[in-house]
Order: sequence, then C-alpha cells, then structure tokens
Amino acid sequence: MDAAKEIFKKHQAQTFPTPSCLEIKSAKGSYITDVEGKQYLDFVAGVSACTLGHSNSIITNAVKKQLNKYSHVMVYGEYVQNPQYKLAELLAKNLPTSLNTTYFTNSGTEAIEGAMKLAKRATGRSEIISCKNSYHGSTQGSLSIMGNERKKANYRPLLPSCNQIHFNDDSTLANITNKTAAVVIEPIQGASGFISPENNFLLNVKKKCAETGTLLIFDEIQTCYGRLGTLFGFECYNVIPDILCLAKGMGAGMPIGAFISSNKLMNLLTFEPSLGHITTFGGHPVNCAASLACLEHLISTEIINDIEEKERLFRANLIHSKIKEIRGKGLMLAIELDDESLVRKVVDKSLEKGLILFYFLFTDTAIRITPPLTISDNDIIKGCKIIKSILDE
Ligand code: PLP
Repeated sequence: MDAAKEIFKKHQAQTFPTPSCLEIKSAKGSYITDVEGKQYLDFVAGVSACTLGHSNSIITNAVKKQLNKYSHVMVYGEYVQNPQYKLAELLAKNLPTSLNTTYFTNSGTEAIEGAMKLAKRATGRSEIISCKNSYHGSTQGSLSIMGNERKKANYRPLLPSCNQIHFNDDSTLANITNKTAAVVIEPIQGASGFISPENNFLLNVKKKCAETGTLLIFDEIQTCYGRLGTLFGFECYNVIPDILCLAKGMGAGMPIGAFISSNKLMNLLTFEPSLGHITTFGGHPVNCAASLACLEHLISTEIINDIEEKERLFRANLIHSKIKEIRGKGLMLAIELDDESLVRKVVDKSLEKGLILFYFLFTDTAIRITPPLTISDNDIIKGCKIIKSILDE
C-alpha cells in the first residue's frame, strides 16, 4: 500500500471495510483524475452533490470572490450578509409563498433536525412519522426516523415517539393521527434504490396531514436543485410541503443545507425560547455564494429543461438482458440487477475501466447513477457502454 493510502487507513476514521481508496489529484467537469493521471468518468457526483460538475468556474469564481471579501464573521442569523440574504431571497422567488423563509444549515441531517424541532414547536406534539426504508441523515434525530432498523439498532435508545408508514401504501396512512407533529418523507426514496411515488401517494399523505393538523416535511436533500428535471422535486408531484429540507446539490460541491417554511412558522424559533436553533457555521457566506451562483445558473440556462432528455438517453443506452429495471427520475437513476455479486462486479470493474458508480445504503442489488447535471450526451453514452460491456462478460 502506498504511503498516502496507509495514512488514510491509519489516521482517518473508516466507515467501510473496503473503501475504493481512489487517490484524487484533481477533478473537472464530469471527470476525476487520480494521482497516476488516470481519468474517471463520474456517474456519482459526490453522491448527488456536484450539481454543475467538478471545479465549475461559476462556482470557483463565486467562492474565490466571496473569500476575498469575507469568510466567517458571526454565528447564524446575527449579521446581514449579502450571500445569505440574496440566496434566501432567490429561493423565496422560486418557491410558493408558503415557503418564503429559509434557515441555512451545514448539512442535510442538520436541516432535518431543524425541521423536526420546528414541527414539534409549531404543533406542540412529539410524534414524528417517517417511511420504512427512508434515510434522512446520520445524527441522532435523523437516525431516529431512519426506516432501517439494522442500521440503527446499535445506537439505541434514540428519540421516542418515532413511528412509520410504508412508502406507496395508503393503508398505513391511518398511523398519521392528531398526535403526529410531522411526517418526514422523501419525494423519491433514496437509500432503498430510488423508489418513486405511485398512485398519488404523496398527495394522499398531504391530505391525511391536512386532516390531522400534521405538518408535512419533504426531505429534498437529494432531489433539489434540478436533479429530477424541476428545480425542486415537489413540483413533479404537485404537492407543496409545509417544510422543505435541502442540501447536497444545493451547494454545488460546497457544504450547505436548509430548512424552509413560512415566515409565520419560522418565527417560532425566535421566542420561548429565543435562539430556537443555533449553528455557528450554518449558512457560511462562502457556501451561500456557491449555492447562489449555482441557483442563478440553473434558473438562467437550459440545464434543468435538458434533464428529461438526458434521462431518456440513459434509459435508451441501458437496455440489457441483465438489467431488470431502471428506477428513479431525471438524473437520479437506479439500475436494478437483482444480483448482489453482479452489482459488486459492475461497480469494481467499472472503476478499472474508468467509470465511477456507487452503491445504495439499503439495497445490495442496485447501482446508483447520479451524475453532474451538466454531463454531456457523449459521456452518458460512453459510461453506459462500459456498464454493458461488463454485463456482457
Ligand atoms: N436525506 C437524504 C434523502 C439524503 O440522501 C441524505 C444524504 O445522503 C441526507 C438526508 C443527509 O444529508 P447529509 O449527509 O448532508 O447530512
């Protein structure tokens, strides 16, 4: 093992027994280059995070410009900082009026924590309902509502009053009652392999929430900023949540998240007690500048309008007898192979052949495809050819 990999293994906490240990030299557009100079086409984009590709000059210039002005100056919500309020304003302009006020966080899981707290504060109730097989982050509140017992059993006790419904199963909606503070739900379930809602499921959840005075929280940490072919995922399903959580692609490679709601609800964080959610670095001005530049670019170009066509290209180029199904929407696609060892083989061999693919947290039989939204048609075709060549072996 070379020195860098040895240090990585010895001094960086490990979370997986066999990491790929790809040693990065640089990354540009849809490609990552390793220290030996080998190029890899990136079908993962930092797990749905690098919206405009790697080292996009729009983002690096925004970051550099902001760094030259000021970086961290104060904890969240005290000083008026241009990149923060401009981003909050542009988000509000592109969202329904009931989602006009943003709290910026450091990450997706912090956005979920904040949203859960806000729902408890607003309703005076404690029960949070999530979906079986959902993933909302790794801190203790998000972990409490994770829909996979195997991944959380060793960390119990977790939050009480966390219960579940089954995604796409209306018969379980009766679990949502007038004791429920909030339902937290992903428009497309991520960790279980990109499961899309069927038969107006999200609309039925919304109706049940309205009946019981329960707040609806959408976890759009993975579906935001154009990934599904609309700026936000809820636009695909005509359901407006009470609280919207963003992260990942929102930062275009920089760490930022947000929970967004109405001004009325959000103001509850200012009294009884004041400072209802506190963060030092949430909404870091440099990260807000990156997010603002990304949002402006998405709004002013055809990138989002082109996503549907790119999805079609993927689907057309991934026809193979060993591919059982392609799930998901836009550039959030899962290849179902129905075979765990084949999934490992495809992911490993793809890396050898210069294509980066990745796994899912809760299913072993599918492969994740979430490239930068800026990926070219030629690169889509090239990557799909590599996948099919391995399946042919
Ligand atoms: N929610 C969803 C749907 C996610 O995909 C993720 C991350 O994978 C999270 C929440 C947690 O976000 P973060 O890793 O930024 O805490």
